[in-house]
Amino acid sequence: MKLSIVGIGPGSAGGMTLEARERLSESELIVGYGLYVDLVKDLFPEKEYYTSGMRKETERVRFAVEKAAAGTRTALVCSGDSGVYGMASLAFETAEALGLEAGDIEVIPGVTAALSCGALLGSPLSCDFAVISLSDLLVPWERIEKRLACVAESDMPLVLYNPSSKKRRDHLKKACRIMMGSRSPRTVCGIVRNAGREGQSAELMSLEELADYEADMLTTVIIGGSSTRNICGRMVTPRGYSGKYDIAGKGGQNGSGEEENEKTDRISRGGGPLLIFGGTSEGRELALRAERAGYETWLSTATEYGRETAQAHLKGVKILAGKLPEDEIESLIRNRGFSCVIDATHPYAGHISGSLEQAAENTGIKLVRVRRKIQTGPTDEEVMFFSTMDEIIDFLNGTEGGVFFSTGSNAAESYSRLIDMEERGCVRILPSAEALEKVKKAGFSSRNIMCMQGPFSEEMNEACFSFFNVRWLVTKSSGRAGGFDEKISAARRLGIKVLVLAPPQETEGIAMEEALKMIGEGRL
Ligand code: SAH
Repeated sequence: MKLSIVGIGPGSAGGMTLEARERLSESELIVGYGLYVDLVKDLFPEKEYYTSGMRKETERVRFAVEKAAAGTRTALVCSGDSGVYGMASLAFETAEALGLEAGDIEVIPGVTAALSCGALLGSPLSCDFAVISLSDLLVPWERIEKRLACVAESDMPLVLYNPSSKKRRDHLKKACRIMMGSRSPRTVCGIVRNAGREGQSAELMSLEELADYEADMLTTVIIGGSSTRNICGRMVTPRGYSGKYDIAGKGGQNGSGEEENEKTDRISRGGGPLLIFGGTSEGRELALRAERAGYETWLSTATEYGRETAQAHLKGVKILAGKLPEDEIESLIRNRGFSCVIDATHPYAGHISGSLEQAAENTGIKLVRVRRKIQTGPTDEEVMFFSTMDEIIDFLNGTEGGVFFSTGSNAAESYSRLIDMEERGCVRILPSAEALEKVKKAGFSSRNIMCMQGPFSEEMNEACFSFFNVRWLVTKSSGRAGGFDEKISAARRLGIKVLVLAPPQETEGIAMEEALKMIGEGRL
């Protein structure tokens, strides 16, 4: 058996290892997929070539194995690395199936797309990272989704191979939605097309933008982790997390000196500890940024559920769960010497914002209100906006058919005014005993209560709405991170009318981007 499975790198002759080049020059026959063979033909025009198209892998590999077994020095070429979504494993299996000596097969590694594309973007894969192919030709899509969800949680940068195919255009969008279940829509991402080949391009964008990006098969996608940043237009994941560094300057044994300096720099510019209010994704993101910028960070969430979610993502942040009364907020501020309070609570939580304003006035602490982008819009046939739940119930009382409330358990008192509640009303709430009690009291019957933690995909929403035979959907306008789009699109598909509870647009406070910037620059 004289078979070498050769990874030729991303494409250009310069990206090939010397060993790969040597093996190709020694071989008599070069076998591969048309596009890859074209890339080496220029270098070795005198060789004998055998090419076949996509999806002809098994036939092509069998040909190479048989030729090699018959004594022809054969090189089977793959782009990138021959072992990473390459032909090497199939060659071993084929030789085994043909009863040939698989032990002789030689695998020559190459620069895989993750590395060539990573390098073009900057340095996104400096620490642990994961690789997933979105191709469901050989792997069931459910398994791919499961792996995506696991990686999403792990916070590791993720490289996506085969982000799209002609048949399946929505894989990347679905993958991004799964990632957004655990990562910020603002996560730094990069895409590279045709690395090392003609038409090479590399671009940075947010995870949210990536969800709408039309990738093709010649593209590799990298989704950053929470510490991945855009540094001068390049995608960079600094090595190690700030929480682990010796920021007091007793010797930076855990990391590079540069990162150490960056941190101490920020601390000296910034003030004392930060107190952030809000179990929202915005609250978590601000806390993470603050932690990374070297602030001692406290996050207050109204619910135990908020605490659990925050704890999973924010290891170095002190988390307070439960609604704090005004006087406790005040004494907390006085006792801990916070330099600033950030109010990132939900716009519906008007009460807490009021308490924070009062506490800030009494203590003289700086208060920053982060404005949340709220989706509102003109009322049309399908989507109607209301400013209170009572108005929605009044409207519904003039209609017929199932109503699906995805507005939580706090509005339970208003819900109970719905005529024929037991028949018409269905509700989806978080799995907490407190929430369940409230909606039961409001009059929902047990078969119409669903306890589950989101975010929910469009498909999941569609399944829920159909199951309960819903005609009306009631939702908050909670912005993109709140799964609003997924609800609206599922409703539109089923012809369900949507009633949106949209609070008045906030005009005060600063935008999320500005708050993140201020924290990152140590200005709070
Ligand atoms: N064995 C190859 C991977 C083959 S799977 C390797 O190790 O790189 C094919 C996928 O790899 C493509 O869909 C794309 O996501 C990625 N890829 C391969 N070559 C690439 C290139 N030159 N530029 C960008 N992506 C590439």
